[in-house]
Amino acid sequence: MTAAVPAFGPTGEQLPCDENSTPFAAVTLSFQVTREQLRAALAIGHAENAGEPPLPDLTVPDTRREIEGYFAGAAVFGSDTELQAVDASLAPDYAAELDAVIDRAYTRPHHPAIPQTPLYRDGTVTLQTLDHGEIVVPEPAWCTGHDNEIVGHLADITHRGRPVKAGAATEAAGYVEILDAAISHAPFLIEQPEPHPVLSIQLSLDTRASTADVRAIAYALRVASLRLDRLDREVRHLRGEEG
Ligand SMILES: [Zn+2]
Repeated sequence: MTAAVPAFGPTGEQLPCDENSTPFAAVTLSFQVTREQLRAALAIGHAENAGEPPLPDLTVPDTRREIEGYFAGAAVFGSDTELQAVDASLAPDYAAELDAVIDRAYTRPHHPAIPQTPLYRDGTVTLQTLDHGEIVVPEPAWCTGHDNEIVGHLADITHRGRPVKAGAATEAAGYVEILDAAISHAPFLIEQPEPHPVLSIQLSLDTRASTADVRAIAYALRVASLRLDRLDREVRHLRGEEG
């Protein structure tokens, strides 16, 4: 039977997991039940409360909370032993792969933004991560540092060089930035690994230009081109691709 039936709930607050565990996300399910299952679940919940309050006095929210609590409890307690046993048996590599999928499907958008507190020492930087705790990574000399960053995942760690920009002062739109580029390196990316530094390039311009503006923009493009060339030589040097 797949016909849609009226849906009720969730009623009230999230049901907690057991007190020895740290909750990570609330999973909201919607599943179909029979009248008999509802009736039995209510009977169990009501009995656990020693029959209080009497059924005629049970409010609609209390009735639904009782039933939702029974099903949530059954789902968690019924599966907990199996889940713990399986989790303990996972090979570390496989567990990491599963975690990556979980992070994708259960990204927590409202986790508090924690400012990074980098510690620079002997060519390394100590950074905090959400998924691997505190880590020490090599800090390239060209990186401008991580002081104004927010703690993220290991894969998000990105070294950034000084910004290289070019722009033009126009009559039509004031100063317009045309180029914003920098050397960058995210050494822990998984899906598109970056074994070496790359160039991160933003080129943009969308304006109506007077004749004078066109000359200013053309000049800015030549400046941008020269600066990109120089940046290209720098990044090739870092990648060991000279000559
Ligand atoms: Zn860095």
